[in-house]
Amino acid sequence: MTAFETSRNRNTELNAFLEIFGEARYPESTGPLAGMTVAVKDVLALKDARLTCGSKFLEPFHSLYTATCVQRLIDAGASIVGKTNMDEFAMGSSNENSAYGPARNPWDTTRVPGGSSGGSAVAAAIGACNVALGTDTGGSIRQPAAFCGVVGLKPTYGRISRYGLTAFASSFDTVGTFSRSLEDAARALEVMAGYDEHDATSAQVPVENYSQALNQDVKGLRIGLPKEYFGEGIEPDVRRLVEAARAKLQKAGCKMVEVSMPHTKYSIADYYILTTAEASSNLARFDGIRYGRRAGGEDATRYATLEETYRKSRTEGFGREVKRRIMLGTYVLSSGYYDAYYTRAQRVRRLIREDFVRAFERCDALLTPTTPTTAFKLGEKISDPLAMYLNDIFTVSANLAGVPAISVPVGLDSNGLPVGAQLISRHFDESTLFRLSKEIHVPLIPE
Ligand code: GLN
Repeated sequence: MTAFETSRNRNTELNAFLEIFGEARYPESTGPLAGMTVAVKDVLALKDARLTCGSKFLEPFHSLYTATCVQRLIDAGASIVGKTNMDEFAMGSSNENSAYGPARNPWDTTRVPGGSSGGSAVAAAIGACNVALGTDTGGSIRQPAAFCGVVGLKPTYGRISRYGLTAFASSFDTVGTFSRSLEDAARALEVMAGYDEHDATSAQVPVENYSQALNQDVKGLRIGLPKEYFGEGIEPDVRRLVEAARAKLQKAGCKMVEVSMPHTKYSIADYYILTTAEASSNLARFDGIRYGRRAGGEDATRYATLEETYRKSRTEGFGREVKRRIMLGTYVLSSGYYDAYYTRAQRVRRLIREDFVRAFERCDALLTPTTPTTAFKLGEKISDPLAMYLNDIFTVSANLAGVPAISVPVGLDSNGLPVGAQLISRHFDESTLFRLSKEIHVPLIPE
């Protein structure tokens, strides 16, 4: 049995994939990524493949074109193995918001793999691919990477084109990777990064040689330890293993500096105001007419008015969490509340961004836990949205500021569950993330 078939068998148990491709998607190639297998989160377009975004709404939908990031991987010789499970429209931290059932954590199948890119994290962890693509709007790559024991990279906003990514919150959404090795993350980023004429927010900043950065020594780099990220609520094992990572960096010649990021306490509230506002606008396109599933089927005469068709299609097609966010977002954007919520939240976003600018005057990267806890149980937080949102406490700030961040496995807790440490660096300085990650990475799964 090939490695891939083995992982297919595990998929039945873990529900990581929504679609697995046969041999047809394996090109003969000599490109720089020849031999690399890639799984794609089902929020990224691949021509003629399904694109459900984890939603019932898009169950019948197939892509008409391929996302730039996916196309660049294919052009470089990578093979696409399938589309992975996710929280509906990338809203969630546990994968339990998928209309196709939750993915499960391969380390303990009674626990969540994290979300929203849970299926991709599992696919990378079980060896179903070398690299799995995910998206990170508030932590959806880093949190599941931490929970599943793999490397999760969220590049700088604008580093990788969003063309072909179904938008959740356009000013936060970032494409990135899951992998067992740092080398594969570096190679995939080198290929995917760079300007794309189809995405005006993709940056015209030169792409660095990230593979080479992995060999660069870290001596003299200054590491900031933001005190707001080491407060209460962190599990002792998480604290201990992040502390061990700090000690390794110090031993390798890094200098530790304590920094303060005073606006961190506003980041969760700020994130959930701004992203729900953007989501309510982005998801307006799912109306039962233009994409996906129409209530009453194709017989458009079934409902008396267009509005009724919209209403029924959206009522039937969207899950609870998506509806909750659309309603919150519509509320914060409504006239009378717009200035009180949306405008203020934009100002707070600026302050959070300035916290990073100020911190990076004193250090080259920040070291924090990725999450306060290891993977929680399925069902544990599903009826308490606030508890679920609080899981993103250490990850959302990087998206508010647009800076790159990575979650690196640093060991197992006393229950045998993976712990991730997060490194955050300046805009477009992914190279420093790779350099530092190499020093603290504890590979938990053979490559
Ligand atoms: N868990 C966060 C949320 O539910 C992050 C989602 C994401 O990054 N796509 O919004």
